[in-house]
Amino acid sequence: MAVHLEQALAKLKTTGVRMTPQRHAILSFLLDSMTHPTADDIYKSLESKFPNMSVATVYNNLKVFIESGLVRELTYGDSSSRFDADMTDHYHAVCESCGKIADFEYPPLHDIENTAAGQTGFQVSGYRLEVYGVCPDCTGITKH
Ligand SMILES: [Zn+2]
Ligand SMILES: [Zn+2]
Repeated sequence: MAVHLEQALAKLKTTGVRMTPQRHAILSFLLDSMTHPTADDIYKSLESKFPNMSVATVYNNLKVFIESGLVRELTYGDSSSRFDADMTDHYHAVCESCGKIADFEYPPLHDIENTAAGQTGFQVSGYRLEVYGVCPDCTGITKH
C-alpha cells in the first residue's frame, strides 16, 4: 500500500518533470506523512530547510505532482486542500477534531457508480467516500 520514494521518483522521471531539492523534499514529506497534510503543513515542516520557499512555491510544486499523477488533492470546499501521495484505491477517515485524514481499505463500490449513472444519466468518472469521526490521538485512547 505504501508508495516508496524511489518508485515515485522513477515515475516522475518518465513525465519529464525536473526534480529540484524542494520538490524532492515535498514529495518525500508527503510520502512519509500519513496524515494527508495541507500545503501549509508542508511549508511549516520544510521552512527551516528552505528559507526562500513560500506556501505558494509549495502549492505550485504540488500542482506539478498532481498533473504528473503522483499526488491527489482532496478539496474540502475551502482553502484547506489536503494532499495524498498514495494513488492506490483507498478511502479516508476524517477527524472532525484535528482534521487529520487516515487511510483505510475497502472493496471498490462499482455499484454506486452504476446506480448513479442509471438514475442521473451522468457519465460517472468516480466517487469519493469518506467517514467522519474522532481520531485516536484526539480521543486519547491510544496515546499517553
Ligand atoms: Zn484528531
Ligand atoms: Zn489517502
